[in-house]
Order: sequence, then C-alpha cells, then structure tokens
Amino acid sequence: MSIERIAVIGGGTMGNGIAHVAAQAGKEVRLLDLSRDVLDGAMVTIRKNLDRQVKKGLLEEGEPEAILSRIEIGSDVAAGVADVGLVVEAVPEKAELKYGIFATLDQAAPADAVLASNTSSISITEIAARTRRPEKVIGMHFMNPVPVMQLVEVIRGLATDDATMDATVALARELGKTPVEVNDFPGFVSNRVLMPMINEAVTALMEGVAEPEAIDTVMKLGMNHPMGPLALADLIGLDTCLNILEVLHRELGDDRYRPSPLLRKYVAAGWLGRKSGRGFHSYD
Ligand code: NAD
Repeated sequence: MSIERIAVIGGGTMGNGIAHVAAQAGKEVRLLDLSRDVLDGAMVTIRKNLDRQVKKGLLEEGEPEAILSRIEIGSDVAAGVADVGLVVEAVPEKAELKYGIFATLDQAAPADAVLASNTSSISITEIAARTRRPEKVIGMHFMNPVPVMQLVEVIRGLATDDATMDATVALARELGKTPVEVNDFPGFVSNRVLMPMINEAVTALMEGVAEPEAIDTVMKLGMNHPMGPLALADLIGLDTCLNILEVLHRELGDDRYRPSPLLRKYVAAGWLGRKSGRGFHSYD
C-alpha cells in the first residue's frame, strides 16, 4: 500500500529538499521545525528550486503552486505526525537529539507508521532501540541537494523488518530516486568512503600541500569528480562533516577516521561552509 502522507522533521538543508520531492510526487507533506524562520526560509527555498525546474522545462507553469499547496508547515512535532504513514527525521547529526525525537515519534505517530532517519552516520539500530517499534525504524539517507541527486541509501537496522524495507524502497522510487539497500554500520557506504577523502583533503590543506582551489581542481580534473572534496565539504556543512567523522572515529575505533584539527578549527570559528557564507571557499 502506497504511503500518501509524510512528515519531515527539520526544515534545514535536507528537510526542505525532502519535503520538495515528496510534494512533487503528489504526497501530502507536513514540514516541522522548531524555528518559524527556518520554516519560512524552507518554503522560499522550495519555491526557488521549483521555479528553476520550470525554467529548465522539467515542470509546467502553475505546477509549483500545486506542489507548494501540498506542504503544510508547523512546529508541533507530536501533532504533526499523528496521521502520517511515514516520518523522515532530518534534524542535526546529534545522537541524543535524534533519540529524543524518535521517542516522541514513537508516542505520537500511528502504530503502523514507518519511522525513518536521514542520519548520515548514527546507528539505525540504536535509534530503533529507543522505540517500541524497532522493526518499523529504517534509514532513508537522501543526498544533497535532494531535488537533484538520484541516490537514496536505505539502511536496514538489525531489527528492521522486510515490510518496512519494502515500503521505504517503494516510496524512494515514487519520489523518483534510486534506492540502494545497505546494512547498518557506521557511515553506511556513502560516508564510510566519502568522509576519509574529505578529511584527507583538509589535512593536505593544513600541511600546506596545496591551496583549496588546487586541491579541488586536482580531484575534479584528475579524478573526474564533479566537485572537489573541499567544495563538497562546504556544501555538506563542515559541522555535519565533523559530526560524521567523530561517529566513524568513535564507533570504528580506528585513528584513520580522526577528524583533522583544521576541520575542528573551522567549525569552532563558525566557518561552516555555504550555509554560513564561508568555509574552505567563500560564498556571497
Ligand atoms: P540543518 O542544520 O540544515 O537542519 C536541521 C534542522 O533541524 C534545523 O532547521 C533545526 O531548526 C531543526 N531542528 C533541530 N531540533 C529540532 C527539533 N527538536 N524538532 C524539529 N526541528 C528541529 O541540517 P541538515 O544538513 O539538513 O542535516 C539534517 C540531517 O541530514 C543530519 O542527520 C545530517 O547528517 C543528514 N544529512 C545531511 C546532508 C547534508 O549534505 N547536509 C546529507 C545527507 C544527510
């Protein structure tokens, strides 16, 4: 049975993109965030991205209005999830924060609702253990920017059942994405492979191997990456990268995942990448 009503918790970088693609696929969406400013900003961002799709000929004139009308914004998470078939949580990458949200979702969402996390690295099995329905908890890891990127990494926790996996994979396809099933290990596949590369690029910068532009150009032109690792870190958010590396380092217990001191310094300075206007590169 197809899932028709979806709640997205967190209206930041990822949450607004997930709301966008879900509404575009015809789903009724509740976008929930503590901050009214974030919610207003999310609607502006979604509008801008939909208009860009119209300019590219991917959507008809008038479609953005219909899509936006399917997104309802709010701040009361418990009320917002009371009648949905699936929740995607996209709050910051902090384990205790996510555990608290999942305890609320478990209380407030219908008993048969799927509870998905967009976490980049936190154990789905551990999040699931905070609920009374671990078989209905799953990872639904969208890539940034969500409206553009094809992949959804679907993460099976230890207790996730087949019905939850099947429903999540089917939903990802309905949203126009390509789901790939992976098992629950720190960083899954995407960040297990990506973050050590970003971290090494930051260490190379710290050691004076090359300037940021040069490091990115080597990887773009030499390895055919669409974007250099430092520009990609700026896009993801340097705080998010640091959080993920800390999880990999702690959970896998291997110093090859130790976050570069320069990454820590940038985050401490509030240089978080695109979202703060400055990271390894500067943004207007
Ligand atoms: P973000 O900081 O841009 O947005 C998070 C939002 O959550 C904020 O708007 C904040 O106000 C809201 N929030 C915080 N506590 C809340 C609560 N209790 N209830 C409701 N809303 C709350 O973060 P993001 O970059 O969108 O990342 C969200 C998740 O997605 C993280 O787990 C991250 O690891 C993952 N992720 C991020 C990327 C990326 O490139 N940024 C890619 C894939 C996955």
